[in-house]
Amino acid sequence: MIQYWRECYRKMPRPIRRLLWWWLLPFGWMVVMGGLVAWRLNSPWRASAWFSVADPVGMFAGQFVTIGIVYFKTRKIRREFVASDGRLCTQCGHSLAGLPDEGHCPECGNRFDTEPDWRAWKDAGIEVKPR
Ligand SMILES: [Zn+2]
Repeated sequence: MIQYWRECYRKMPRPIRRLLWWWLLPFGWMVVMGGLVAWRLNSPWRASAWFSVADPVGMFAGQFVTIGIVYFKTRKIRREFVASDGRLCTQCGHSLAGLPDEGHCPECGNRFDTEPDWRAWKDAGIEVKPR
């Protein structure tokens, strides 16, 4: 099972893999917010009804921030994918439009082959139109 997920992660284009790390932010955020709540419970404001709303909102805010960040970064990748007609480097996201079907990325030097690379983007959810 772990082997399967490792294989999925390895096949993902690197710009998509980097987005996954943003999902660690809500965990750190929850630890910090939990600490704030624990501190507040020993403070003079502990009985305020306002915190019955503020605590859950604060706790989950990190997840909404991450959803926003991942959404806008994915949208940017998708736009670049459309602009390059489905030809983006899987290592750095550089546009390979106008280059032959196989070769080396001019930006990072990664070897590319547009057909399997396009499939890797598609498997990662960056599909725009069927080919
Ligand atoms: Zn590249």
